[in-house]
Amino acid sequence: MDYERNKALLLELQRAAGSGNDRCADCGDPDPEWASCKLGIFICLNCSGIHRDLPEISRVKSIRLDFWEGNLIEFMRNHGNLWAKAKFEAKVPPYYYIPKSCDCLVLRQQWIRAKYERGEFLDTQVCQDPCSAGSREGCLWKLGKGRKQFQKRQFLLSAREGVMKYYSKEVEKIGHSHGLQITYITEGQTRNLFVYHESGKEIVDWFNAIRAARYHYLKTTFPNVPEPELIPRITRNFAKEGYMEKTGPKQKEVFKVRWFCLDSQERNLIYFKNPLDECARGQVFIGRREEGYEVRDDLPQKVWAKKKKPVITLVTPVREFVFICESDWKQREWMDALNRVITQL
Ligand code: ZN
Repeated sequence: MDYERNKALLLELQRAAGSGNDRCADCGDPDPEWASCKLGIFICLNCSGIHRDLPEISRVKSIRLDFWEGNLIEFMRNHGNLWAKAKFEAKVPPYYYIPKSCDCLVLRQQWIRAKYERGEFLDTQVCQDPCSAGSREGCLWKLGKGRKQFQKRQFLLSAREGVMKYYSKEVEKIGHSHGLQITYITEGQTRNLFVYHESGKEIVDWFNAIRAARYHYLKTTFPNVPEPELIPRITRNFAKEGYMEKTGPKQKEVFKVRWFCLDSQERNLIYFKNPLDECARGQVFIGRREEGYEVRDDLPQKVWAKKKKPVITLVTPVREFVFICESDWKQREWMDALNRVITQL
Protein backbone atom coordinates (compact mmCIF):
# COMPACT_ATOMS: atom_id res chain seq x y z
CA MET A 1 0.00 0.00 0.00
CA ASP A 2 2.73 2.40 1.08
CA TYR A 3 4.57 1.59 -2.13
CA GLU A 4 1.92 3.15 -4.38
CA ARG A 5 1.10 6.00 -2.02
CA ASN A 6 4.76 7.00 -1.52
CA LYS A 7 5.42 6.81 -5.23
CA ALA A 8 2.46 9.16 -5.85
CA LEU A 9 3.77 11.57 -3.18
CA LEU A 10 7.22 11.54 -4.75
CA LEU A 11 5.86 12.19 -8.26
CA GLU A 12 3.86 15.07 -6.86
CA LEU A 13 7.07 16.49 -5.35
CA GLN A 14 8.91 16.08 -8.64
CA ARG A 15 6.18 17.95 -10.57
CA ALA A 16 5.51 20.67 -7.97
CA ALA A 17 5.54 24.05 -9.68
CA GLY A 18 8.39 26.32 -8.62
CA SER A 19 10.22 23.53 -6.79
CA GLY A 20 12.95 23.18 -9.42
CA ASN A 21 12.40 19.43 -9.18
CA ASP A 22 10.88 19.22 -12.66
CA ARG A 23 14.36 19.59 -14.18
CA CYS A 24 17.54 17.61 -13.52
CA ALA A 25 19.52 19.27 -10.71
CA ASP A 26 22.77 18.81 -12.64
CA CYS A 27 22.11 19.25 -16.36
CA GLY A 28 18.65 20.86 -16.49
CA ASP A 29 16.99 18.14 -18.58
CA PRO A 30 13.18 18.10 -18.11
CA ASP A 31 11.23 15.45 -16.17
CA PRO A 32 13.95 13.69 -14.16
CA GLU A 33 12.95 10.13 -13.34
CA TRP A 34 15.71 9.46 -10.82
CA ALA A 35 16.74 10.91 -7.49
CA SER A 36 19.65 10.94 -5.09
CA CYS A 37 18.10 10.12 -1.74
CA LYS A 38 21.36 11.01 0.02
CA LEU A 39 21.57 14.52 -1.46
CA GLY A 40 17.82 15.06 -1.73
CA ILE A 41 17.78 15.97 -5.43
CA PHE A 42 15.95 14.92 -8.59
CA ILE A 43 18.19 13.97 -11.53
CA CYS A 44 17.98 12.53 -15.04
CA LEU A 45 19.03 9.04 -16.13
CA ASN A 46 22.35 10.29 -17.59
CA CYS A 47 23.41 12.14 -14.46
CA SER A 48 22.22 9.27 -12.26
CA GLY A 49 24.93 7.16 -13.90
CA ILE A 50 27.58 9.62 -12.69
CA HIS A 51 26.07 9.72 -9.18
CA ARG A 52 26.13 5.92 -9.05
CA ASP A 53 29.95 6.06 -9.25
CA LEU A 54 30.07 8.30 -6.16
CA PRO A 55 28.64 6.12 -3.37
CA GLU A 56 30.41 8.21 -0.71
CA ILE A 57 28.24 11.20 -1.41
CA SER A 58 25.20 10.03 -3.38
CA ARG A 59 22.69 7.19 -3.51
CA VAL A 60 20.55 6.77 -6.62
CA LYS A 61 16.99 5.51 -6.68
CA SER A 62 14.39 5.37 -9.43
CA ILE A 63 11.29 7.42 -8.73
CA ARG A 64 9.03 4.89 -10.40
CA LEU A 65 10.74 1.54 -9.88
CA ASP A 66 12.20 1.65 -6.39
CA PHE A 67 10.50 1.48 -3.03
CA TRP A 68 10.56 4.75 -1.10
CA GLU A 69 10.20 4.70 2.68
CA GLY A 70 8.16 7.44 4.31
CA ASN A 71 11.17 9.07 5.97
CA LEU A 72 12.96 9.34 2.59
CA ILE A 73 9.93 11.10 1.09
CA GLU A 74 10.09 13.52 4.00
CA PHE A 75 13.82 14.03 3.38
CA MET A 76 13.19 14.77 -0.31
CA ARG A 77 10.43 17.21 0.63
CA ASN A 78 12.73 19.07 3.01
CA HIS A 79 15.55 19.28 0.48
CA GLY A 80 14.99 19.21 -3.29
CA ASN A 81 16.68 20.89 -6.26
CA LEU A 82 16.24 24.53 -5.23
CA TRP A 83 17.72 23.83 -1.83
CA ALA A 84 20.65 21.98 -3.40
CA LYS A 85 21.27 24.78 -5.90
CA ALA A 86 21.36 27.38 -3.12
CA LYS A 87 23.80 25.25 -1.15
CA PHE A 88 26.07 23.56 -3.70
CA GLU A 89 26.04 26.29 -6.39
CA ALA A 90 26.26 29.28 -4.06
CA LYS A 91 29.57 30.47 -5.51
CA VAL A 92 29.97 29.23 -9.07
CA PRO A 93 32.49 31.62 -10.71
CA PRO A 94 31.03 33.51 -13.70
CA TYR A 95 33.53 31.96 -16.13
CA TYR A 96 32.94 28.37 -14.96
CA TYR A 97 31.36 26.32 -17.72
CA ILE A 98 28.13 24.70 -16.53
CA PRO A 99 27.56 21.71 -18.81
CA LYS A 100 24.27 20.79 -20.45
CA SER A 101 23.00 17.28 -21.13
CA CYS A 102 24.46 17.35 -24.68
CA ASP A 103 28.00 18.07 -23.42
CA CYS A 104 30.63 15.37 -23.19
CA LEU A 105 30.88 13.06 -20.21
CA VAL A 106 34.06 14.46 -18.64
CA LEU A 107 32.53 17.95 -18.32
CA ARG A 108 29.31 16.62 -16.75
CA GLN A 109 31.24 14.27 -14.45
CA GLN A 110 33.56 16.97 -13.15
CA TRP A 111 30.71 19.44 -12.65
CA ILE A 112 28.92 16.93 -10.40
CA ARG A 113 32.10 16.00 -8.51
CA ALA A 114 33.15 19.65 -8.10
CA LYS A 115 29.71 20.44 -6.63
CA TYR A 116 29.02 17.59 -4.25
CA GLU A 117 32.32 15.77 -3.70
CA ARG A 118 34.79 18.64 -3.52
CA GLY A 119 32.29 21.31 -2.47
CA GLU A 120 34.02 23.83 -4.74
CA PHE A 121 31.07 26.21 -4.91
CA LEU A 122 29.85 26.14 -1.31
CA ASP A 123 29.08 29.44 0.37
CA THR A 124 32.05 28.91 2.69
CA GLN A 125 34.50 28.90 -0.25
CA VAL A 126 36.54 32.02 -0.83
CA CYS A 127 35.82 33.29 -4.36
CA GLN A 128 38.85 33.03 -6.61
CA ASP A 129 39.55 36.15 -8.58
CA PRO A 130 39.56 35.38 -12.31
CA CYS A 131 43.15 36.51 -12.64
CA SER A 132 44.57 33.92 -10.25
CA ALA A 133 42.13 31.28 -11.56
CA GLY A 134 43.42 32.03 -15.06
CA SER A 135 46.98 31.05 -14.24
CA ARG A 136 48.09 27.49 -14.43
CA GLU A 137 51.17 25.37 -14.94
CA GLY A 138 51.50 21.68 -15.64
CA CYS A 139 52.05 18.82 -18.04
CA LEU A 140 49.66 17.90 -20.81
CA TRP A 141 49.89 15.43 -23.67
CA LYS A 142 50.16 17.47 -26.85
CA LEU A 143 49.38 16.15 -30.31
CA GLY A 144 52.68 16.29 -32.21
CA LYS A 145 53.56 17.66 -35.63
CA GLY A 146 52.90 14.38 -37.39
CA ARG A 147 49.34 14.51 -35.98
CA LYS A 148 49.69 10.90 -34.91
CA GLN A 149 51.53 10.83 -31.60
CA PHE A 150 51.11 12.67 -28.34
CA GLN A 151 54.11 14.07 -26.50
CA LYS A 152 54.24 15.18 -22.88
CA ARG A 153 54.80 18.93 -22.74
CA GLN A 154 54.95 21.57 -20.03
CA PHE A 155 52.27 24.24 -20.39
CA LEU A 156 52.03 27.62 -18.76
CA LEU A 157 48.93 29.76 -18.80
CA SER A 158 49.02 33.27 -17.48
CA ALA A 159 45.99 35.51 -17.39
CA ARG A 160 48.26 38.54 -17.61
CA GLU A 161 50.18 37.70 -20.76
CA GLY A 162 48.91 37.16 -24.23
CA VAL A 163 46.17 34.69 -23.49
CA MET A 164 43.39 37.00 -24.55
CA LYS A 165 43.12 35.24 -27.85
CA TYR A 166 42.83 31.73 -26.44
CA TYR A 167 39.61 29.77 -26.60
CA SER A 168 39.10 26.23 -25.46
CA LYS A 169 36.59 23.51 -26.03
CA GLU A 170 36.22 19.91 -25.00
CA VAL A 171 36.84 17.49 -27.83
CA GLU A 172 36.59 13.78 -28.32
CA LYS A 173 37.69 13.83 -31.97
CA ILE A 174 41.33 13.28 -30.98
CA GLY A 175 40.31 9.83 -29.77
CA HIS A 176 40.76 10.58 -26.10
CA SER A 177 37.85 11.19 -23.74
CA HIS A 178 39.77 13.86 -21.79
CA GLY A 179 40.74 15.88 -24.85
CA LEU A 180 40.84 19.62 -25.19
CA GLN A 181 41.05 21.81 -28.29
CA ILE A 182 42.65 25.17 -27.68
CA THR A 183 42.18 27.66 -30.50
CA TYR A 184 44.18 30.85 -30.58
CA ILE A 185 45.16 33.62 -32.95
CA THR A 186 48.76 34.62 -33.43
CA GLU A 187 49.84 37.23 -36.01
CA GLY A 188 46.41 37.03 -37.60
CA GLN A 189 46.62 33.23 -37.99
CA THR A 190 44.17 30.86 -36.35
CA ARG A 191 45.93 27.95 -34.67
CA ASN A 192 44.73 24.84 -32.89
CA LEU A 193 46.34 22.93 -30.09
CA PHE A 194 45.11 19.45 -29.21
CA VAL A 195 45.92 18.20 -25.73
CA TYR A 196 44.73 15.67 -23.20
CA HIS A 197 45.41 14.58 -19.64
CA GLU A 198 44.81 11.24 -17.95
CA SER A 199 42.81 12.93 -15.22
CA GLY A 200 39.38 14.29 -16.02
CA LYS A 201 39.66 16.85 -13.23
CA GLU A 202 42.96 18.16 -14.59
CA ILE A 203 41.62 18.70 -18.13
CA VAL A 204 38.40 20.39 -16.92
CA ASP A 205 40.50 22.62 -14.62
CA TRP A 206 42.59 23.67 -17.63
CA PHE A 207 39.43 24.28 -19.61
CA ASN A 208 38.05 26.58 -16.92
CA ALA A 209 41.44 28.25 -16.30
CA ILE A 210 41.51 29.29 -19.97
CA ARG A 211 37.93 30.53 -19.63
CA ALA A 212 38.94 32.46 -16.49
CA ALA A 213 41.87 34.08 -18.31
CA ARG A 214 39.66 35.05 -21.23
CA TYR A 215 37.00 36.36 -18.84
CA HIS A 216 39.65 38.47 -17.11
CA TYR A 217 40.75 39.87 -20.47
CA LEU A 218 37.18 40.71 -21.56
CA LYS A 219 36.46 42.33 -18.19
CA THR A 220 39.47 44.64 -18.41
CA THR A 221 39.05 45.41 -22.13
CA PHE A 222 35.29 46.09 -21.97
CA PRO A 223 34.72 47.36 -18.41
CA ASN A 224 31.31 48.83 -19.24
CA VAL A 225 29.80 45.81 -20.96
CA PRO A 226 27.38 44.00 -18.61
CA GLU A 227 28.35 40.50 -17.51
CA PRO A 228 25.51 38.59 -19.29
CA GLU A 229 26.90 39.92 -22.61
CA LEU A 230 30.51 39.01 -21.77
CA ILE A 231 29.88 35.39 -20.75
CA PRO A 232 28.87 34.11 -24.24
CA ARG A 233 32.05 35.72 -25.64
CA ILE A 234 34.30 33.61 -23.41
CA THR A 235 33.99 30.60 -25.65
CA ARG A 236 34.74 30.82 -29.30
CA ASN A 237 31.52 29.98 -30.95
CA PHE A 238 32.00 27.81 -34.01
CA ALA A 239 28.49 28.04 -35.41
CA LYS A 240 29.27 25.19 -37.77
CA GLU A 241 32.12 22.82 -38.60
CA GLY A 242 32.55 20.27 -41.36
CA TYR A 243 34.04 19.27 -44.71
CA MET A 244 33.49 21.10 -47.99
CA GLU A 245 35.52 21.25 -51.18
CA LYS A 246 36.96 24.53 -52.39
CA THR A 247 38.69 25.78 -55.51
CA GLY A 248 41.36 28.49 -55.81
CA PRO A 249 41.15 32.20 -56.68
CA LYS A 250 41.09 31.60 -60.46
CA GLN A 251 38.15 29.22 -59.93
CA LYS A 252 39.78 26.85 -62.42
CA GLU A 253 41.88 25.01 -59.84
CA VAL A 254 41.01 21.47 -58.79
CA PHE A 255 38.51 21.33 -55.92
CA LYS A 256 40.17 20.20 -52.69
CA VAL A 257 38.58 18.85 -49.53
CA ARG A 258 39.03 21.15 -46.54
CA TRP A 259 37.77 21.27 -42.95
CA PHE A 260 35.77 24.49 -42.38
CA CYS A 261 34.91 26.23 -39.11
CA LEU A 262 32.48 29.14 -39.07
CA ASP A 263 33.28 31.59 -36.27
CA SER A 264 30.14 33.69 -36.02
CA GLN A 265 31.54 36.08 -33.40
CA GLU A 266 34.58 37.07 -35.44
CA ARG A 267 32.62 36.67 -38.71
CA ASN A 268 35.25 34.34 -40.18
CA LEU A 269 35.02 31.17 -42.22
CA ILE A 270 38.31 29.45 -41.39
CA TYR A 271 39.60 26.39 -43.21
CA PHE A 272 42.12 23.67 -42.42
CA LYS A 273 43.48 20.81 -44.49
CA ASN A 274 42.44 18.37 -41.75
CA PRO A 275 40.27 18.72 -38.62
CA LEU A 276 43.30 18.13 -36.37
CA ASP A 277 45.62 20.59 -38.12
CA GLU A 278 47.54 23.11 -36.10
CA CYS A 279 47.46 25.98 -38.61
CA ALA A 280 44.59 27.28 -40.67
CA ARG A 281 45.12 27.33 -44.46
CA GLY A 282 43.15 30.52 -44.76
CA GLN A 283 40.05 32.39 -43.80
CA VAL A 284 37.28 34.39 -45.39
CA PHE A 285 35.78 37.38 -43.63
CA ILE A 286 32.00 37.50 -43.81
CA GLY A 287 30.53 40.99 -43.72
CA ARG A 288 26.93 42.18 -43.85
CA ARG A 289 24.43 42.05 -46.68
CA GLU A 290 24.55 45.88 -47.06
CA GLU A 291 28.28 45.60 -47.64
CA GLY A 292 27.78 43.27 -50.58
CA TYR A 293 28.00 39.81 -48.96
CA GLU A 294 25.65 37.08 -50.15
CA VAL A 295 25.33 33.28 -50.40
CA ARG A 296 23.81 31.51 -53.39
CA ASP A 297 23.08 27.86 -54.14
CA ASP A 298 24.41 27.96 -57.71
CA LEU A 299 27.73 28.41 -59.49
CA PRO A 300 28.98 31.77 -60.78
CA GLN A 301 28.96 32.13 -64.56
CA LYS A 302 31.86 30.38 -66.33
CA VAL A 303 32.71 28.29 -63.28
CA TRP A 304 32.44 24.59 -63.86
CA ALA A 305 32.41 21.85 -61.24
CA LYS A 306 32.94 18.32 -62.48
CA LYS A 307 30.89 16.57 -59.86
CA LYS A 308 27.14 16.84 -59.82
CA LYS A 309 27.03 17.87 -56.20
CA PRO A 310 25.30 20.75 -54.38
CA VAL A 311 27.32 23.97 -54.43
CA ILE A 312 27.50 27.21 -52.49
CA THR A 313 28.77 30.50 -53.86
CA LEU A 314 29.82 33.00 -51.22
CA VAL A 315 29.85 36.47 -52.74
CA THR A 316 32.14 39.07 -51.16
CA PRO A 317 32.99 42.54 -52.52
CA VAL A 318 36.43 41.22 -53.57
CA ARG A 319 35.69 37.82 -55.09
CA GLU A 320 33.34 34.85 -55.20
CA PHE A 321 34.17 31.69 -53.27
CA VAL A 322 32.81 28.39 -54.55
CA PHE A 323 32.28 25.37 -52.28
CA ILE A 324 31.03 21.88 -53.02
CA CYS A 325 29.01 20.22 -50.24
CA GLU A 326 28.69 16.53 -49.43
CA SER A 327 24.88 16.48 -49.65
CA ASP A 328 21.82 18.68 -50.16
CA TRP A 329 21.28 18.56 -46.44
CA LYS A 330 24.82 19.79 -45.68
CA GLN A 331 24.41 22.54 -48.31
CA ARG A 332 21.23 23.73 -46.56
CA GLU A 333 22.96 23.73 -43.15
CA TRP A 334 25.98 25.70 -44.40
CA MET A 335 23.80 28.21 -46.25
CA ASP A 336 21.63 28.76 -43.18
CA ALA A 337 24.72 29.20 -40.95
CA LEU A 338 26.40 31.62 -43.41
CA ASN A 339 23.19 33.57 -43.86
CA ARG A 340 22.87 33.98 -40.11
CA VAL A 341 26.31 35.62 -40.01
CA ILE A 342 25.54 37.84 -43.02
CA THR A 343 22.31 39.09 -41.43
CA GLN A 344 23.66 39.45 -37.87
CA LEU A 345 24.61 42.93 -36.67
ZN1 ZN B 1 20.98 15.41 -15.85
